[in-house]
Amino acid sequence: MAASMCPPDLILLQEKIASCDLCPLSLSRNLTVPGSGPSKAEIMLVGEAPGREEDLKGLPFVGRAGRLLDEALNEAGLKREDVFITSVIKCRPPQNRKPNKKEIELCLPYLEDQMDAIRPRIICLMGNTAIQAVLGVVGVTVLRGRILSDRFLVTYHPAAVLRNRNLMADFVSDLREAKIQSLKLSKDAFAE
Ligand code: SF4
Repeated sequence: MAASMCPPDLILLQEKIASCDLCPLSLSRNLTVPGSGPSKAEIMLVGEAPGREEDLKGLPFVGRAGRLLDEALNEAGLKREDVFITSVIKCRPPQNRKPNKKEIELCLPYLEDQMDAIRPRIICLMGNTAIQAVLGVVGVTVLRGRILSDRFLVTYHPAAVLRNRNLMADFVSDLREAKIQSLKLSKDAFAE
């Protein structure tokens, strides 16, 4: 991630994303979905890309997977208003296909700038697309629940949990771990 002397401004970033035409997804989208949440959130959640409902509303995780995410956050003792939620790709890929390598490469700097602006203590990478884009590795089933590079917690994508409810307990446990770790890191920072 590029270190910057002056963190990028979230509002300016949002405006930049709203008018972005760097990749062909700009031609088929209705609205960009930059993400939402507090500008100084301690926890950031990163998914893959907007779906149909997100594309229509310009907000992240507002469809069925979003409702499941809310349920999991509640069970983990977190609230949606407390976390910043976004995705690797800010425009909906047609028919909800997976974003390709070029699209990810072009869009990733926005996510990196969001991380620099918000400076969350813990970043939950939800699903293989986010894990691979940010850390360059794959294997959510093996890596889930682990913290990599000090602040990235790997977990399932809510859509995967929607398809297989047996993953819900692990998903909630990972979100709970994100909360525990962010509180621990806050205390450590306070004690310094
Ligand atoms: S997906 Fe990202 S890079 Fe492509 S047009 Fe949207 S904001 Fe720009």
